[in-house]
Amino acid sequence: MDFDLFVIGGGSAGVRCARISAGHGARVGVAEERFWGGTCVNIGCVPKKLLVQAGEYGAWAEDAAGFGWTIQKGPHDWAKLIAAKDREITRLEGIYRKLLDGAGCTIFDGRAVLEDAHTVLIGDKRVTAEKIVVATGGHPERPPIPGAELGIISDDAFYLPTMPKTVAIVGSGYIAVEFAGIFRALGAEVHLIYRQPLPLRGFDHDIREALAEALAQQGITLHPGCHPEAVAANGDRRILTYGGGQKLDVDLVFFATGRRANARGLGLEAAGVELNAKGAVRVNEALQTTVPHIYAMGDVTDRINLTPVATGEGHALADTLFGGRPRTLSHQNVPSAVFSSPPIATVGLTEEQACTMRQVDVYVTRFTPMRHNLTGRPRKTLMKLVVDSETQVVVGAHMLGEDAPEIIQGVAIAVVMGATKADFDRTIGIHPTAAEEFVTLRTRTRVTGVAEAAE
Ligand code: NDP
Repeated sequence: MDFDLFVIGGGSAGVRCARISAGHGARVGVAEERFWGGTCVNIGCVPKKLLVQAGEYGAWAEDAAGFGWTIQKGPHDWAKLIAAKDREITRLEGIYRKLLDGAGCTIFDGRAVLEDAHTVLIGDKRVTAEKIVVATGGHPERPPIPGAELGIISDDAFYLPTMPKTVAIVGSGYIAVEFAGIFRALGAEVHLIYRQPLPLRGFDHDIREALAEALAQQGITLHPGCHPEAVAANGDRRILTYGGGQKLDVDLVFFATGRRANARGLGLEAAGVELNAKGAVRVNEALQTTVPHIYAMGDVTDRINLTPVATGEGHALADTLFGGRPRTLSHQNVPSAVFSSPPIATVGLTEEQACTMRQVDVYVTRFTPMRHNLTGRPRKTLMKLVVDSETQVVVGAHMLGEDAPEIIQGVAIAVVMGATKADFDRTIGIHPTAAEEFVTLRTRTRVTGVAEAAE
């Protein structure tokens, strides 16, 4: 065999797995067809957060008046922002490539396809490997409606030549909600069209309600309960038909309607690797596919599609296979954030999930953050703890508000450790912060859950 390990895909999962395996002494080959660092670094988390930050400066410029500053807010230069973002992404992509090189991996720039269960073809090169990792990620998917190709997807949003003046975003998951905030903060008229009564299906109900309110308050027009029906072109403009024949005439239709695994056309079938009903690679807890020496991880397996889960899995597999430290990554209590405006962050169970299993004590607080008492911006923070009534273990923590992702990261450590409400209560707050609310929630908002339902 040419390699101990061959990794297909140079994204978050693949790069980490290749690099750590090589560090453990394995002979590693790694192939990437598009860009090193994958979706997260190039057309996902990283550039998205830079665009979110661009939007924040605009609001801060206005807020500053409340603190005595006179700041004239000029027009925003989209082309300048995209150029700065591109420079940063190019820098990061180079770092990812260098990391692999430095670790001693053999790098292949090209599309890798399995010829059989131990042979990989990259263009006209043929290599063999003892073990193979499939870490090819996913791609955004448009809904099956007429004219869908006239709408953009998130890959395109990072390279728009100009800022659209009016945008219709379809969907209300992570990507839809984040880009609605970005385009609105940069001055566009934004419409959010979604099927549910509230955005972010699967998140805690209180958070979803607070988000809908926050989106409306910043001037985003919400169209709940609406399915997209068709897109048509009128010159450069797009006409979106939705919700039983209603029409929106906009510069841009943006489909943020979910992602699908990149599992087709890789020769997986030829090697005997099975896909699940959603077209993602099926894996067991040890990340083995139906062919035991072929592994898969990250978005191509469509379980928890988050970068830190992918990198964590890549690291765990490398340690297991070549580091003499077998381990798996827990999918319990995985914290995540939505970089909406304001952002959301969450760890553990939602109240709705917890309620189906046990009786819970719920603590909710809602307040205006200190700075907005001076700026006058109508922006509220919501913080919430879901506590098992019997054991008093904190099973969920949720926040919508400034710095929520920074705050919940620390709270997540406590939740992962199994902290009780009493542990939170005996922790001294840092004053004056919003975060201290998590350790000063004294008054229970409600008791709910299965015991109550049984009464
Ligand atoms: P999500 O799965 O989060 O949301 C998809 C959205 O599209 C939902 O609102 C869904 O509606 C809607 N939808 C799906 N199909 C249709 C359809 N045919 N017609 C109308 N609406 C439809 O997908 P995203 O694309 O937002 O993000 C993909 C994944 O990427 C996320 O789940 C997350 O794992 C990851 N991600 C994480 C981020 C972060 O950590 N901050 C940021 C961005 C992405 P409904 O609810 O009705 O099904």
